[in-house]
Amino acid sequence: MGIVSLPSSGMEPENPTRSQVLTLEEVRNELGDCKRCKLHQTRRTIVFGEGNEKATLMFIGEGPGYDEDVQGRPFVGRAGQLLTKIIQSINLQREEVYIANIIKCRPPQNRNPEPDEIQSCNPFLRKQIQVIQPKIICALGTFSAQTLLKTETKITALRGKFYDLEGIKVIPTYHPAFLLRNPDKKREVWEDMKKIAEWINNA
Ligand code: SF4
Repeated sequence: MGIVSLPSSGMEPENPTRSQVLTLEEVRNELGDCKRCKLHQTRRTIVFGEGNEKATLMFIGEGPGYDEDVQGRPFVGRAGQLLTKIIQSINLQREEVYIANIIKCRPPQNRNPEPDEIQSCNPFLRKQIQVIQPKIICALGTFSAQTLLKTETKITALRGKFYDLEGIKVIPTYHPAFLLRNPDKKREVWEDMKKIAEWINNA
């Protein structure tokens, strides 16, 4: 299976010395009651991310929606329920993976995150990746894939391939919310998930 190398995305975890490696709790504490971008004005809660601090597989979506903003947890609405089923389809449970988003606060009316918002939030996602050190990241949807891989290539072309991000494999697939609107695309996500399972089993 081919690995596609991409130019530096700015998302790569640095190679921290041992003393620089934080815990997720320390990263969360550092984030605090974050007001680093304008999304703090309209959010209810910061959706930091959740799951296994030592996960092999990490999912990164776009940003919190209404349900996530209310509950303070990622992927808990209808799309989240579908993500849970997608995770279970490769014999994993939600608790075994780590789930986060490109941005941690809900944009008004679920609009796309803006570049300054991503830039403000990005250091904390990078720190989460540094702590977790996943072997593989599944980028959910256009926004996550394009941001992580620093490309404008469409998700239809990106999905289902492995990319290398400083030693971490990244495989983009469709966002569960997109699947709810386009159930005929579930087969492609299933194929992508099979590739992830195969890669994990052979790692
Ligand atoms: S989106 Fe990120 S940077 Fe912006 S306020 Fe929320 S936590 Fe802070």
